[in-house]
Amino acid sequence: MTNTAGKMTDLPLIPTLYPTEEQFQDPLSYLSQQDVLLAGTQFGMIKLVPPKSFNPPLAIDKDNFNFNVRLQRLNQLNLLNRCRQSFIVQLTNFNIMMFDDNHDGSKGIREPMINVLSIGRKSSTIPIFLYDLFIKILEQLVSYDSTRLITDSQDLLKLKILWKDLTDSYKYQGHVATEDLKGIFENYLSHYFEEYTKLLNMVPHSPKSVFSNDLLYKEQYPHSLLNDDTTDDEDDDDDYEECPYCQAIILQGAIDFLTSIFKCECCKRFFHQSCVQKAKYTMFKKKTSTNRWICNNCILGNGFYGFQMGSKQYILQNFINECEEDTSKSIDQLEKEFWEKVNDNSISNNPSSLIMYGADIHNSEQISGFPLSNHALEKGSSKYVSHPMNLVNLPNALGSLLPLLSNKTISGMTIPWIYVGSTFSTFCWHMEDQYTLSANYQHEGASKIWYSIPASSCEPFQKLLHSMTPDLFIKQQDLIHQLVSLVSPYDLPKSINCYKAIQNPNEYIITFPKCFHSGFNTGYNLNEAVNFTTPFWLPFGVEAVDDYKLTQRKCAFDVNELLLNLIKYMNKKGGNKQDISHVLITSCITYLRSLVFREKSLLKELRVSLPENWFTPLIKMENELVDGYEDENEDEEYIYCSHCKAICSFAFVLRFEKDKTPNRKRRRLGKMAIKQWNELSDNELDSRRILCLEDYKLQWGKTEGEEEDGNRQIDEIYVIRDLDRILKDLDSAMK
Ligand SMILES: [Zn+2]
Ligand SMILES: [Zn+2]
Ligand SMILES: [Zn+2]
Repeated sequence: MTNTAGKMTDLPLIPTLYPTEEQFQDPLSYLSQQDVLLAGTQFGMIKLVPPKSFNPPLAIDKDNFNFNVRLQRLNQLNLLNRCRQSFIVQLTNFNIMMFDDNHDGSKGIREPMINVLSIGRKSSTIPIFLYDLFIKILEQLVSYDSTRLITDSQDLLKLKILWKDLTDSYKYQGHVATEDLKGIFENYLSHYFEEYTKLLNMVPHSPKSVFSNDLLYKEQYPHSLLNDDTTDDEDDDDDYEECPYCQAIILQGAIDFLTSIFKCECCKRFFHQSCVQKAKYTMFKKKTSTNRWICNNCILGNGFYGFQMGSKQYILQNFINECEEDTSKSIDQLEKEFWEKVNDNSISNNPSSLIMYGADIHNSEQISGFPLSNHALEKGSSKYVSHPMNLVNLPNALGSLLPLLSNKTISGMTIPWIYVGSTFSTFCWHMEDQYTLSANYQHEGASKIWYSIPASSCEPFQKLLHSMTPDLFIKQQDLIHQLVSLVSPYDLPKSINCYKAIQNPNEYIITFPKCFHSGFNTGYNLNEAVNFTTPFWLPFGVEAVDDYKLTQRKCAFDVNELLLNLIKYMNKKGGNKQDISHVLITSCITYLRSLVFREKSLLKELRVSLPENWFTPLIKMENELVDGYEDENEDEEYIYCSHCKAICSFAFVLRFEKDKTPNRKRRRLGKMAIKQWNELSDNELDSRRILCLEDYKLQWGKTEGEEEDGNRQIDEIYVIRDLDRILKDLDSAMK
């Protein structure tokens, strides 16, 4: 266990600011003030204590406020713990298949580590985690030869340089005997290693890495290896499921009679025998002699982890009554205890480490703890209804940019969400969507502890996470957006700046762009949070678009649209009403101009080399491509490139495969909503694809030839915005 004792005072606190009545009435100007902005940038977050007169009553009826809770198992949130625990499940699954083990296949593996004696230091032991050793071996092998990995265990054991490097890597913990490491490898890892590297070597593209996603089948609803089966079965009321390989439905009623169906005994999914046998990288294509079978993803590990939801809905007052709090403990003691629970690397599921958190509470109606006009108002609370620091109003406050979007309500971003905490409920490391700012207000309850890593330390922090669990970040590229990972701030190297905050009732925490933050609650508390933007956020918003492409994450709103509307707005009003600095406006214009020129030149290229009738200009300034299409559940308003997942703000190509896309299917596209287009385009088995011009050009550049030309003739280009008009707008905004 990581010893965090004695280090608890190491983290400096973020600054606390006390805005005046007047400053508090114009919060976005206040936050853009040079000194405030500097503090926010340096510390990642600031704490705002409102003026004395600001004390909004809690406008939530505790007997009628319902919500669901997430169940958080603290020691599975520790990033490394989770990988180590999952790896034991993977090994166990492998052994079941490999040795047809009639028991649990664990070969005696109960804990994620084997303790070995430290040489020279009597009775002191060093834990060798199987996951760590396995990853270290792979990383070393890749560094020696990244084109082909050794697959034979005996060859591996003879590789002197490897074992020297491995032994050295444990030096900081003590002196490990090389023979001990070899023994652990032979006893627990060698068979798994052989089958694993054989598969990795089959993946055609080099260089090799510690993992390749080609080895996994795509999962629509991923299964976590660490979920309890008991709770899984209870809510399993589907009577059919899709075969993950071919996506055809397998009726469960028929399964008992069909020997050609495989059921994975770990994730409980059904597969066609023929699909399993056809799949290129399937590790086990046959059932064991005792009729058992486990799928690839459960043996190789998909890296997925998600919170389970509690089975019952809570009424706020009952939740408060159930929260047992030990008021005798100091914040420091609670903090120490929290990180000890998170860092506990034993596998046993201690029920006391299962925590309830009512997080992200929202519904179609607006819910807020601040007085709203539609609430029966308490005496004296009417002044809070329109106050900009009422979080319902903040995203639309003077100087905010989000009102410039066509879809002004993005749930969880521009509409506040409510958070009901209990002791040790936690929010894991994350950044706000598209690097926006966030404001979090505590209505009542026990302190919330926050940790912040400012934008300046964000890159080294991400590198650290990747180096701890390199395979996981291949399997789950946008892991850091999933809010399921903790690393103790007290275990970070000095080179990463990390600060702490203690938030109490009636206090705001403001997070600045690209700040990593996490934290936990010291008891029952009720908080509310919302995202917002200010002009100084703009460059971060643009940066987020490129960063999101790298991890295939979709943007919730179109920054380009926001910038275009900002320019239009300024032209219409005949001046800079948003009070945005000249430098910032100029850089926005330059940025937009370069984007438009890029699209124009791509369009020109595509046009020149293709037959005349191939280019289908379709200029629509509206966001809806299909006139008259209305659906209340329809909230997706953007076209996403199926390759880079970026929003296509200006133009896109609809790509068909000539023989695979019958005319019947092509005609249907005209009648579909944007969301359906995107869904089809994301569907592996459908041949239709939406691509941004850049990706279309790249893909087409790779496959030259007669046949491809034929295909290109049936593809369609859609130009969504009038590019020449945009250039004119930009010119007049420059004046
Ligand atoms: Zn199938
Ligand atoms: Zn499975
Ligand atoms: Zn793209």
